[in-house]
Amino acid sequence: MAYDAPLSDITFALTKVADLSRLDGNAAFEAYDPDLIAPILEEAGKLARDVLAPLNQIGDKVGAVLGPDGVTAAPGFAEAYAAFRDGGWMGLSAPEEWGGQGLPKVLGLAVMEMFHGANMAFTLCPMLSSGAIEALLAHGTDDQKARYLPKLVSAEWTGTMNLTEPQAGSDVGALRTKAVPNADGSYAITGQKIYITWGDHDVAENIIHLVLARLPDAPEGTRGVSLFIVPKFMVGDDGALGARNRVECIGLEEKVGIHASPTCVMEYSEATGFLIGAENKGLACMFTMMNSARLNVGLEGVGVGEAAWQAAFAYAQERKQGKAAGVTGAAPILHHADVRRTLTTMRAKVMAARAICYACGIATDLAEVGETEEIRTAAKLREDLLTPIAKAWSTDMGVDVASLGVQVHGGMGFMNETLAAQLYRDARIAPIYEGTNGIQAIDLVGRKLSMADGAAMTEMMDEIDATARRARETNDPGLVQIAERLKAANAALGEATLWMRETMISDRETALAGATAYLALAGDVIGGHFLTIGAVEARSSDGQTRGKMTALAGFFAETSLAAAPGAVAGIKFGGQAMLDESEALFGIS
Ligand SMILES: Cc1cc2nc3c(=O)[nH]c(=O)nc-3n(C[C@H](O)[C@H](O)[C@H](O)COP(=O)(O)OP(=O)(O)OC[C@H]3O[C@@H](n4cnc5c(N)ncnc54)[C@H](O)[C@@H]3O)c2cc1C
Repeated sequence: MAYDAPLSDITFALTKVADLSRLDGNAAFEAYDPDLIAPILEEAGKLARDVLAPLNQIGDKVGAVLGPDGVTAAPGFAEAYAAFRDGGWMGLSAPEEWGGQGLPKVLGLAVMEMFHGANMAFTLCPMLSSGAIEALLAHGTDDQKARYLPKLVSAEWTGTMNLTEPQAGSDVGALRTKAVPNADGSYAITGQKIYITWGDHDVAENIIHLVLARLPDAPEGTRGVSLFIVPKFMVGDDGALGARNRVECIGLEEKVGIHASPTCVMEYSEATGFLIGAENKGLACMFTMMNSARLNVGLEGVGVGEAAWQAAFAYAQERKQGKAAGVTGAAPILHHADVRRTLTTMRAKVMAARAICYACGIATDLAEVGETEEIRTAAKLREDLLTPIAKAWSTDMGVDVASLGVQVHGGMGFMNETLAAQLYRDARIAPIYEGTNGIQAIDLVGRKLSMADGAAMTEMMDEIDATARRARETNDPGLVQIAERLKAANAALGEATLWMRETMISDRETALAGATAYLALAGDVIGGHFLTIGAVEARSSDGQTRGKMTALAGFFAETSLAAAPGAVAGIKFGGQAMLDESEALFGIS
């Protein structure tokens, strides 16, 4: 079996670790009832296992194809998209007003994790649509919402995000695509966008492109960027599809992975576009989309990591090599302690990243609909803090875990025919797009640590200390040991945070040289915090869950958390050693 949704792990992470119950009874989620969680996850798991996963490897082999009439999706993808659409999955967390089911966003995220795990290339399509829905909800006019949202929410149409140009990657403000006002209030959009995910395809009847472009005389840089809606087919006042717009895919990229996700070069030749949000405020509008997408990309790391662990575990049970104590004849490699250690590393990291992403998702929900101003403000701080960590830590984890999955397969893992090899290739893009992980680290230390005078990280670290106390108070020797590791790791995070905040002011270059290492430490400690909560909560679960959660938290504490104090020196002084010798190392001063 290629992928089997880990329903009990996902449910446990949602309900026991990330505390989904904080949304119970919230007036904004009239349709939500905790009893719905199980059937929703179960149904999503079936689609993931039975429809999406079986197409993952054929999608990798054949990929999407560009012909004279545009892009044709990989074999079976149109039918799978129809099943996704007919199942109503796109609307799970969208407002009922626009045809959605009005459920918490975090539930939609848990479902997306399964779809990513089953078939990341496929799931990128609805992931981009959900970003477009968010942007329209937050910034669209009433007319724009009425015209585009129902069809996006029903998944009859899909959405894309068009930022990147050859000279404008991380530096989005360098983009040159032009938007010239037409007499009728629309705009003529001209320019080329590259790397546009699902920029063209044949799985839905229309595509709503959200495009960043510059108005004539717009200020330089990010302050002169505006956002436009550019439909592939024009949409009449009655909702009927009209003429083909002047936008087309003129090339498909040959990629390392996610072959079934068409990555398009898009040519806009005076295409008709409609301003969304205010002039020159496009980046702020796009950020609505990007924040949602960043968390979703974090879940790609979790989904692919989970799939890699499942494939490695299955292989380790079958592959026989060497002898092991208590096994007659050649032993399945699972019996070798080193292989079990690799598998445990994979599983613990996936669990930690899952909890970080779900906690970020719940904060996103509460920031929007929390009952009081105080709850909303605290949740917004938590969401802002966790978003770069959820994106970067989880996607780095996805690559590491997929690589370990290849290792468990030995030489077979290096053969393209194995799923393990595909997962490794697919996982590699996630640290790059939606803001590279380097940019996420800069966002964390540059903006997030100083928000509300540092309250976001201070409150997080207070909670981590409280978790360590809670674990210690159980008096269970295993949990007490985990508590000690967590407390020491949190102290290390505190020291690194203080240094980072001060150094961002006194010597920004040195601080930025430690940003990625700081984010890695923050992810380790926050991940360890959630695993510890899991181990404490599991004390009232069945023996199997209790054993699993205690072992994973204990393993993570003795490996990742135990290394945390040593990581502080690398953050504080590692960068300095390099910067001091820039001339010798790089020939630059
Ligand atoms: C498969 C795929 C799908 C994509 N889908 C989309 C899409 O749908 N829509 C879209 O608009 N774009 C999309 N992209 C583009 C993607 O978001 C960019 O590739 C990404 O933002 C990085 O930009 P770049 O490739 O120009 O790299 P660069 O910006 O050139 O970065 C190169 C390296 O330099 C580092 N770097 C850059 N600037 C800084 C800085 N200021 N400080 C420190 N380090 C820095 C980066 O971290 C990175 O390691 C996609 C890309 C790929 C490969």
